[in-house]
Amino acid sequence: MSTSGVVVELQTVTKAFGGLRAVRDVTFNVERGEIFSVIGPNGSGKSTLFNLISGVMPATSGSIRVLGRDIRNLRPHQVSRIGVGRTFQTTQVFADKTVLENALVGRHLRVRTGLWQAELRTRLFRNEEARHRERSLEILDIVGLRDHADRRASQVPNALQQRVAIAMALANEPELLLLDEPTGGLMEQEVLDLMALLRRIRDLGVTIMLIEHKMRLVRQVSNRIAVLNNGGLICEGDPGKVLNDERVVEAYLGTVDAASA
Ligand code: ADP
Ligand code: MG
Repeated sequence: MSTSGVVVELQTVTKAFGGLRAVRDVTFNVERGEIFSVIGPNGSGKSTLFNLISGVMPATSGSIRVLGRDIRNLRPHQVSRIGVGRTFQTTQVFADKTVLENALVGRHLRVRTGLWQAELRTRLFRNEEARHRERSLEILDIVGLRDHADRRASQVPNALQQRVAIAMALANEPELLLLDEPTGGLMEQEVLDLMALLRRIRDLGVTIMLIEHKMRLVRQVSNRIAVLNNGGLICEGDPGKVLNDERVVEAYLGTVDAASA
């Protein structure tokens, strides 16, 4: 566990794909207990930044410390093990497994395993199963999926699909949760419900990093916001400051659908 209040420390982080610098010289900290949003136009490097923080790919240069650890040489499952959960822009769950089984997979096997390994039932798994089931059901309660526990993930209503992925990530008991556009495809009221869920998760002590386009959600739920444009950080601070910043309005907010602002 990190000793300081800083959960993520990015120091001049750059990620190059050939000649394209998808993330360039980005420096900021995320503090324990906050909801920290990352916004910016499509292609500005937001998902790449999450990939770097979760160990999916290494940074080209710069340093990334997560929960007090330099993650430079860590694989995704190792980053997961130090306390980082994440969801992806396209929901990734085990469609044919039940919601409860998805949570259990998130709990035991983390991101290093494929579906076939989830079929293996180790002795440890059997011994601890009752306890893990109980905790997984609690997590389904938190995300509002308790009533869907025994449904296949593919049978869960669209509005709740992303919550299966959130439950899976939470099942690993992360200290830091990375959510990449969790409101994709949601209706107005569903977005508000998700906002309440993010606050609930934050209040349970989980630090959240959020990539999001719906500006009303970002404005209302974020403690702080970072804005990327062409891979670079153009502004960072509290919502009042960032969403009124001229550079942000020019680079990004001017392009956002007024209805979502
Ligand atoms: P965002 O999430 O902000 O929309 P991304 O981080 O997905 O942006 O992409 C930033 C830029 O990096 C884009 O130009 C994208 O095409 C490029 N990119 C992302 N991932 C890869 C990859 N694995 N290989 C090559 N280019 C990539
Ligand atoms: Mg993205």
